[in-house]
Amino acid sequence: MIKTIFFDLDDTLYPKDSGVWQALRGRIAQYMHEVVGIPEADVPTVREHYLKTYGTSLRGLQHHHAIDAEAYLRYTHELPIETLIAPNPALDAMLSQLPQTKYIFTNSASFHAERVLRALGVERHFAEIIDVRKMEFRSKPDLFAYQLAFERSQTAPGETLFVDDMPANLAPAKRLGALTALIGEPEDGTAVADVSLAQVERLTEAMPALVEFAHG
Ligand SMILES: [Mg+2]
Repeated sequence: MIKTIFFDLDDTLYPKDSGVWQALRGRIAQYMHEVVGIPEADVPTVREHYLKTYGTSLRGLQHHHAIDAEAYLRYTHELPIETLIAPNPALDAMLSQLPQTKYIFTNSASFHAERVLRALGVERHFAEIIDVRKMEFRSKPDLFAYQLAFERSQTAPGETLFVDDMPANLAPAKRLGALTALIGEPEDGTAVADVSLAQVERLTEAMPALVEFAHG
């Protein structure tokens, strides 16, 4: 029986083509050039290297440059969220059907998550935002992040469902015994996810047992 659901935020609760990711990527590139001083022409290559080696740009920057993580998060998440994300009544209705305790489980910062949830009109559904700072910057797919999630929610892996747009972030959850749902149009998601669906709004349709359990 699933008691707790961990939802990723970015590209999971809103679609990939919303423009948020592009805007964020632009701010990260700007930070790397303007604040860290990496030549503009080298930024794409350096960033790619950081992502491949460390999982996130932030971790790469922390490793190679003595950057202030808090300042980085503030700078890069200066985004026009309200113009990119509209209220989503279908998502709100789907979340209302789910009796489980819901968490946001994101490699992003809580202030960004709060802003996105407000723009979507779904903030009331979530018990807590587990963000990159609570993860002590050991973000998904680092096992530390998942252990933290089980600890904060007081649930065992077998009582949980993880919802994410990235197969790499679902793999550790699956390995630990959690259920997994992959959001978006996956190429190789089937190996790690119990279900995969185009949009998060379809979660209760794809996993009807989540709702049925609540009624008996
Ligand atoms: Mg995501």
